[in-house]
Amino acid sequence: MTKGKINVSVENIFPLIKKFLYSDHEIFLRELISNATDATLKLKHLSNFGEAKVEYGNPLIDVKVDKKGKKIHIIDQGVGMTHEEVGKYINEVAFSGAEEFLEKYKDSAKDSGIIGHFGLGFYSAFMVAEKVEIFTKSYKDESGAHWSCDGSPSYSLEAFDKKERGTEIVLHIAKDSKEFLEDAKIQELLTKYNKFMPIPIRMGTKEISRTEGEGENTQEIKETVDNIINNPSPAWIKKPADLEDQDYKDFYRELYPSQFEEPLFNIHLNVDYPFNLTGVLYFPKIANDLNVQRDRIQLYQNQVFVTDNVEGIVPEFLTMLRGVIDSPDIPLNVSRSYLQADGAVKKISSYITRKVGDKLNSLFKNDREAFEQKWNDIKVVIEYGMLSEEKFFDKAQKFALYPTVDGNFHTFEELKDKIAANQTDKDDKLVVLYASNKEEQHAYIQTAKEKGYEVLLLDSPIVGHLIQKLETSNEKVSFARVDADHIDKLIQKEEEAISKLTEEQKEALKPIIEEVVPKETYTVQLEAMNSQASPFIITQPEFMRRMKEMQQTGGGGMFGNFPEMYTLSVNVNHPLVGQILGTKTKKKQERLIRQSLDLAKLSQNLLKGEELTSFVQRSFEMIK
Ligand code: ADP
Ligand code: MG
Repeated sequence: MTKGKINVSVENIFPLIKKFLYSDHEIFLRELISNATDATLKLKHLSNFGEAKVEYGNPLIDVKVDKKGKKIHIIDQGVGMTHEEVGKYINEVAFSGAEEFLEKYKDSAKDSGIIGHFGLGFYSAFMVAEKVEIFTKSYKDESGAHWSCDGSPSYSLEAFDKKERGTEIVLHIAKDSKEFLEDAKIQELLTKYNKFMPIPIRMGTKEISRTEGEGENTQEIKETVDNIINNPSPAWIKKPADLEDQDYKDFYRELYPSQFEEPLFNIHLNVDYPFNLTGVLYFPKIANDLNVQRDRIQLYQNQVFVTDNVEGIVPEFLTMLRGVIDSPDIPLNVSRSYLQADGAVKKISSYITRKVGDKLNSLFKNDREAFEQKWNDIKVVIEYGMLSEEKFFDKAQKFALYPTVDGNFHTFEELKDKIAANQTDKDDKLVVLYASNKEEQHAYIQTAKEKGYEVLLLDSPIVGHLIQKLETSNEKVSFARVDADHIDKLIQKEEEAISKLTEEQKEALKPIIEEVVPKETYTVQLEAMNSQASPFIITQPEFMRRMKEMQQTGGGGMFGNFPEMYTLSVNVNHPLVGQILGTKTKKKQERLIRQSLDLAKLSQNLLKGEELTSFVQRSFEMIK
């Protein structure tokens, strides 16, 4: 038997390991399962190449929790280690690795994020164990070995008569880590970190029942089978050509067992140059809400789960998607800020963006109707992407859709062609009319449609920003909400309506109205419109409203504290307005103005609370 002291400069590395990343203690299991997997795959490789004269068979990794004995066993059937190799790989390699890792990161341990993932390897076992033993036998024709270490730098290593090839790691769980002696806890960790690792992981057995036979002869059969935790060949490692639509859906269910809704479509990622990346991304139904739960994409490295926070790796707008990406080329022992500056990661991020763009484009081209049907469930992601990634904006010009209030969908080019004939303003710009709410802006939409104008329905929360961007990149286009001003003013009209009131009459009318209408909220404008148009129309200047909206979703700081300001357009050609002017008593005049203003407010959804109540009461009085 050999006794020795591990050669380290840090006097006692174990307390350090323990302290390091307290919250990440659970990664010990992932590390040990990874080692067992590596050892098994190594054997597979060697036997494939005829170097190991062994039967590879169907190896498993066994995980056993011995609550009474306060131990966890991790048993593999991999290459194993000779006496000499334990001395080399465990005492020297693994230890120097752990020491180097700690030296490098002990100061930056607070910089949370990806730091702490990987690198600690075998010695992470000491985060939860007071003593660790290794029983191992190499595939080579040599006797086995037993290594033991109780958490001080001293270890013992002796020959051990082990029959089966492979390695068994025994963790004597420390008092402060008792939670890891629960079957449920270990099963939870295996499911979290090892669910898609390539070698089957078994945790005891389980009972399943199935039915056999038909009708009266139906029998329920109970069977005891291996409790295999993982799916060793998940969809993303397969070739897209070998997968059916249903396979992708099944895999989605496997990833998100509690999701009832099916994904809309998926994107299979697969690249091996200049970096390695595989994965499957899913577009779920995304409502009109930017606050959807992010952190649904899982990051793996060689089928080992790393994190579900892919911020910095996947462009922000795509964090609304779901699925898996697997890449060994993403540096993990670094902070987020370093990650974002890393060249390889930037390439990965733009590759993903490009693939998503290509996929959307082909969906649009291959089946436009189906794409239109999905539009409302995916537009938030696409619009957000158009705003945040210039390259995506360019690409999305081909498939981004602009629906009308009547449910027709145009691309931006189609839209421009459609309105070119009769929707221009005095500067010859195309005026894109839109509504944000079909119910609330019903009257305005109606007026516009009667004049043959095309009205879009743009109702996503970031549409203000998108419009701003579209206007900047298309000089000859401007957007106006249907209630931004009255329609004939937004769109150039040849003939000016003739005013039925004289200049003197108008001059007399204005102060009468201004006296009743609160001037801190309304600017009164007298206008000669069609006598069929409403007598009073309330509008809110496009610019002001848009700035306020944009501020609510981030950006644009100076308009937040402005009071709500509206324009009250008074149609001097409407008979009611003439009647107001002609009314003799001041009291009656005032009542007519107030009632008209309230009706205008009502149609703009601005009449609420006490004002609404008294309006209703007053109206009943009037019809009595
Ligand atoms: P890494 O896995 O990054 O090499 P570790 O600290 O996890 O670092 O492991 C150190 C070494 O110990 C491994 O490279 C391997 O040679 C050896 N080893 C660890 N676990 C096993 C095992 N279950 N079977 C065979 N060899 C192992
Ligand atoms: Mg390892």
